[in-house]
Amino acid sequence: MKTVHTLDELRAEIRRWKGAGETIALAPTMGNLHDGHLSLLREARRLAKRTVVSIFVNPIQFGKGEDYEKYPSTLAEDQEKLAAEGLDLLFAPDLRQLYPAGMETDTRVTVPEISNILCGQFRPGHFSGVATVVSKLFINTMPDYALFGEKDYQQLLVIKRMVKDLCFPIEIIGMPIMRETDGLAMSSRNAYLDPVQRGKASLIYQLLKESAAKLAQSPDAILEIEVAALTRLSAAGFRPEYFTARRAADLAPHSPGDKQLILLTAAWLGGARLLDNLRVELQ
Ligand code: AMP
Repeated sequence: MKTVHTLDELRAEIRRWKGAGETIALAPTMGNLHDGHLSLLREARRLAKRTVVSIFVNPIQFGKGEDYEKYPSTLAEDQEKLAAEGLDLLFAPDLRQLYPAGMETDTRVTVPEISNILCGQFRPGHFSGVATVVSKLFINTMPDYALFGEKDYQQLLVIKRMVKDLCFPIEIIGMPIMRETDGLAMSSRNAYLDPVQRGKASLIYQLLKESAAKLAQSPDAILEIEVAALTRLSAAGFRPEYFTARRAADLAPHSPGDKQLILLTAAWLGGARLLDNLRVELQ
C-alpha cells in the first residue's frame, strides 16, 4: 500500500493505472477507520482492479460549534488496517491541497432539495460541503466505482443525484450498515460516548426495529409510531432531531401506495450525534 498526500502524486498513480486499462474504485472517508469503512474497501476490491481510500476531515461540511476540531485522527492505525486489507493507495491530503483558494469564497457544489431536509435542516450547508469535497475527489481519482455507506443514507442519495446531474461517469455503490453486536451502527463518533451512554445507545436500533415492525402492520399509524419513538428517545435521555418514515427512493414524505419506505433517525446522546436508519417494505 502506498500513501500519498498531494494531488500531483494521486494523479500520477491514476494516470499509470488508467494507461494500463485498469479499473478503479474509491471509498472516501474521514478516517478513524472501523469495520464499516473496511466493508467498503472489501467491496471495492471485489469490483475493481485498483482501490483508493481517501482520508480527509472536510471542514466545510461541519457547522459552527460542531466537532471538526476534535474529530478523531488516527492515521497510523488507519494505515495499518488499510494495508492489512490490501488497499493500493491511500490519499490523505492536507487542507491546502483540496482548498487552494481557501474556504470563504471558493466554488461549491450544491444538490438542491434533498440537501435541505432531515439532516440538512439541522446542519445547514452540510451536504453542499460533502458534495463539494466528493466532487474534488471524483475529478482527481476518476474512479469507475465509488462506495458509500447506507448509514449516511441521505448522503448516499445526495451523491447519487449529484453524479446523475453532473454526468460523472461513476457508478455509486451503497453498502449495508455495519453494526456492533448490540446493534449500534458503527461510527467514529461513538467514541464520544461514555460507558453509561454507550450502554443506552443501542436503543436507537431497537426502536428502528420495533417501529419497522409496527409500520409493516399498520402503515396508516406512521405519525403515532414516529411520536412514540421520539418520546422513548427523549425519556431515555437522548435529544432526538428526527425519527421519521420516508419514501426510500427520494426521502419524500410517504404517501399511500408507497411500498419501499425507510425509517431514519438522528439523535444526540451526550456529545455524540448518532445517525441510523432501517428499510421497511410494505406488502
Ligand atoms: P465517514 O468516515 O464517517 O465520513 O464515513 C465514510 C464512509 O463510510 C461513508 O460512506 C459512510 O457512510 C461509511 N460508513 C460509516 N459508518 C458505516 C457503517 N457503520 N457501515 C457501513 N458504512 C459506514
